[in-house]
Amino acid sequence: MHGGTFRIIPVESGRGCPYGCEFCTVTGFFGDSIRFRTNESVVNELLLLKARAKEEGGQIAVFFIDDNFAINVKRTKSLLRDIIAANAQVHWVAQISANLLRDEELVDLIAAAGGKWIFIGMESIDPANLADVKKGFNKPGEYSVVLDRLAQRNVYAITSFIFGMDNDTTGVAERTLKEIRSWPPGLPIFGLMTPLPATPLYKRLEAAGRLTPPKHWQEFIPFAMAHTPLKMSIDEAHSEVRIGWASSYSPEAIEKAVDSLNHKPLGYRINIFIARLCFRGIYFPQMGRFAWVKTILENRRTIFKLIRLGFGGGLHATVPPVATQPVSEQQH
Ligand code: SF4
Repeated sequence: MHGGTFRIIPVESGRGCPYGCEFCTVTGFFGDSIRFRTNESVVNELLLLKARAKEEGGQIAVFFIDDNFAINVKRTKSLLRDIIAANAQVHWVAQISANLLRDEELVDLIAAAGGKWIFIGMESIDPANLADVKKGFNKPGEYSVVLDRLAQRNVYAITSFIFGMDNDTTGVAERTLKEIRSWPPGLPIFGLMTPLPATPLYKRLEAAGRLTPPKHWQEFIPFAMAHTPLKMSIDEAHSEVRIGWASSYSPEAIEKAVDSLNHKPLGYRINIFIARLCFRGIYFPQMGRFAWVKTILENRRTIFKLIRLGFGGGLHATVPPVATQPVSEQQH
């Protein structure tokens, strides 16, 4: 780590998720038991990372790679309280299912402990699809409440959707995008229903003769279906995913997301702008210098707007430092 660098450090505070969603490898791979590191061990790791970043003049963020960071809400709250008490906050991102974010106190603690981005596997806005894949604990009706609750505390969401589910029909992307546009800005991502070997989904589709070759995971192609959906063709499913990405990461959509934070300090707008540009690269080829130059040129309006705001007095309005005061004293 050196001056001017920014690193995202993976930290695992616990492992396992017993929910058993049909498409997910986690329950099959780790079993349905959950095990945690001690709070002390996690806090000490954060303190070491924080100290090293300070010593070397670099910036860090932590990615808690736990399968479901708040699977035991009581334990997560206790860990977050210990992080706050030890002043071990760094900016972090974690994966948490939407149902667990109903707990207001948990969300307060996430914000106070340095949480900035939460990855939420929303999968679908259709309850029938969610029931099909054993994820009926996700309630699409409460997605916006959960996202507002996070945004009020300056925590934003990476919202993940799956197209090509058994109840999906053409137009699923636009129906989903309509919902997304009514939510606080975040980082939507779109994938296809993927039958990974050893998952209950794979077994169900294999038994039904719906898998299309290649069957082995090493031959799976990103953003290409490996089975036939029930209510649309494979090509239609691919097209829905393309619509999702193209609409969410067009220069206009990025500008709108940045503008929607115009009541926040400049740092938040810069943050979401950079995050959107990076996330765009998950789907659109963006590895070479030329691709980046092209992306930057396409988004020049937003860039100029941010520069103007910076020179207009907002230069010091960066993302506020991680909160260190007790949760009860924070203003939301
Ligand atoms: S909640 Fe997430 S980690 Fe847990 S089984 Fe479902 S998809 Fe997998």
